Amino acid sequence: MLGNFLSPHSHAFHILPSLISYALKPPSVLEEAHSEHIEFVWFYLAVESAAKMRRNETLICAPLMADTVDQLVELMHKAKIKGADIVEIRLDHLKSFDPHFDVERLIKECPLPTLFTYRPTWEGGQYDGDEKSRFGALRTAMELGADHIDIELKAADEFNKFMNGNKPGKCKVIVSSHNYDCTPSAEELGNLVARIQAAGADIVKFATTALDITDVARVFQITVHSQVPIIAMVMGERGLMSRVLCPKFGGYLTFGTLEPGKVSAPGQPTIEDLVSLYNFRSIGPDTKVFGIIGKPVAHSKSPLLYNGAFKSENFNGVFVYLLVDNVPKFFETYSTSDFTGFSCTIPHKEVALTCCDEVDPVAKSIGAVNCLIKRPDGKLFGCNTDYIGAINAIENGLQGSHNNTDGSPLAGKLFIVIGAGGAGKSIAYGAKEKGARVVVANRTYDRARELAELVGGQALSLAELDSFHPESGMILANTTSIGMQPKVDETPVTKEALRYYDLVFDAVYTPKITRLLREAEEMGAKIVTGVDMFVGQAYEQYERFTGLPAPKELFKEIMKNY
Ligand code: NAP
Repeated sequence: MLGNFLSPHSHAFHILPSLISYALKPPSVLEEAHSEHIEFVWFYLAVESAAKMRRNETLICAPLMADTVDQLVELMHKAKIKGADIVEIRLDHLKSFDPHFDVERLIKECPLPTLFTYRPTWEGGQYDGDEKSRFGALRTAMELGADHIDIELKAADEFNKFMNGNKPGKCKVIVSSHNYDCTPSAEELGNLVARIQAAGADIVKFATTALDITDVARVFQITVHSQVPIIAMVMGERGLMSRVLCPKFGGYLTFGTLEPGKVSAPGQPTIEDLVSLYNFRSIGPDTKVFGIIGKPVAHSKSPLLYNGAFKSENFNGVFVYLLVDNVPKFFETYSTSDFTGFSCTIPHKEVALTCCDEVDPVAKSIGAVNCLIKRPDGKLFGCNTDYIGAINAIENGLQGSHNNTDGSPLAGKLFIVIGAGGAGKSIAYGAKEKGARVVVANRTYDRARELAELVGGQALSLAELDSFHPESGMILANTTSIGMQPKVDETPVTKEALRYYDLVFDAVYTPKITRLLREAEEMGAKIVTGVDMFVGQAYEQYERFTGLPAPKELFKEIMKNY
């Protein structure tokens, strides 16, 4: 049985037998037997296991670029080991090749189905020769058994004339269009798809460029309504979601690279990330989408944590990076319940609050949300789990050194918060709730004063911090991005000033041990890392996202390396 996800009408049903025969070649003994029965059993077992493993039909295609045919052959085998379903052989990157002999070798030696692309310079490729030779090489690939070839929309009419109606039956023709400037309107994209279809495409392909993450929504819309197999990608970091979520919307394939950065188009993730980080094979039409909104966002470890937990708990969700420029526009665009929950990081926590239909009272007092949930009625609910994570971690760090058995070890302590953004507000608020005397120091003094007023404390400029030591045994919490990668040599306070602190906390968690924490430890203070806070706030968010208890041990295990 093929199971629910692979209907006999779907494209995967047609490519599956070839995938299976490539992936599960029977032992030579069985090959020799050539028994119909044995072949049937192999086929049946393979289909069964494929149906069990996969919740979607979307293929992972490894784009292969190399100078020589030998190198290409090596890469094909690597692609199979990494978990690709199909390889794109970029003939235009080869320094030289024999269009018959080498193409035949590439097809014969490839352990996976093939897609031949011979991209000209005028469409972003490397080939700058004449069209006749290019078309000839593609026709040879078709005749020798390539599973797919790619021809650009701009050249499709000429190519069709060249082929003169003699298209070998097995080979599927992808007609492609690339826009390196922008993502056109939905109407223009619809017209583009119609033109690609009219040019004789078995499979439609277009790639556009994301100027804003909301561009991806139009591409999803086209993909989900397409009547023909479609490859629709949005290039660039803002378009990453289009590559990861295409199985949810029924895309034919996505591109996954062998190594980070070895891309054939901007923004491609690695095969490893697709398979291991995003659990790509488990993404289906009903998979709930979660993500981290920020700018920058690529440093966040949230996708690692939540996707790891979703996998281990068999929760039907995927967690993606969302590089967002305009938060209200983002929420207006991704307003369906498919987009279920969001973590929020720099610099969007305050503006995200204004996008919520309802805000938890604590988050309202703090003035920032770091967790947003789309309720079944479509309303967006915002809350703040930062202060819980940070304050719990600091209290744990102080345990053992305080005598106050009834209340919090923070009660009565002088608590200096550096920063007055989202994290600063939540930690200042949390410390005040625990009975600490709060002082706020910030680069922009007015913001320090506003927050200090809110928590009934004193305000300082950053310059005053080094000489501020009215007493010893104080607590210091850095909530700015000072010291965060790549500027790891920066620190908000001199080492000398750290002698007055009992405990120093740093919200920055890349790197785990910042310069501030290293110097604090050297000066004899206890330290609490941003990782401790991160894991603490994530427990709370996970439970709100899924309604399930957080797998705390797993979270700690995943974050151990960071
Ligand atoms: P935010 O709302 O944008 O606030 C940033 C704060 O940092 C502001 O007070 C800003 O001062 C200050 N700042 C930024 N760059 C500075 C610089 N070069 N010199 C001095 N001050 C600077 O950001 P956020 O969401 O609060 O996040 C702040 C940091 O905390 C980030 O590093 C983030 O990764 C980390 N964080 C960690 C966790 C965790 O779980 N460990 C959770 C949340 C946040 P101005 O007011 O003058 O602009």
